[in-house]
Amino acid sequence: MPAKMSLDEKFMKAALKEAKKAWSIDEVPIGCVIVQNDKIIARGYNRRNIDKNTLAHAELTAIRKASRKTGDWRLEDCTMYITLEPCQMCAGAIVQSRMKKVVIGAMNPKAGCAGSVLNLLQMAQFNHQVEIVHGIMEAECAEMLSSFFANLRVRKNERRRSEMAGEKQSK
Ligand SMILES: [Zn+2]
Repeated sequence: MPAKMSLDEKFMKAALKEAKKAWSIDEVPIGCVIVQNDKIIARGYNRRNIDKNTLAHAELTAIRKASRKTGDWRLEDCTMYITLEPCQMCAGAIVQSRMKKVVIGAMNPKAGCAGSVLNLLQMAQFNHQVEIVHGIMEAECAEMLSSFFANLRVRKNERRRSEMAGEKQSK
């Protein structure tokens, strides 16, 4: 269904825009939007370092905002678009919020809990399971993370080099 694909891409693009906000403050670029009735009702991006808060993941911020907006902790008719597969904490919150569906950009083989390490979103033992769609704008989402980390490595090396140069000078 190409029409539906383009809607998914549109919302994933909005999530990528949130990820860019994280990048602009030197955070790992992960972004997320929550959609209800084809409208974005909440946005979030990773702010863990700047807020010095483990809970400042994009998904938790967006869930908090969506609940504030709807006046309900249940997000039963909502879909979350997220640039990277959620961690165990966020996957837990997604299940707790009764989110209908999660659309994922890039998977996270080392830490993802929507199918990679675990699939917390679809445990038959829990009282709620979340539909999962992945691979929407996967290349763009993965690319944003890999270029962020490549950039970080370059900057670290430059810093190390200039520190070494400074040490030599002070000797
Ligand atoms: Zn998380």
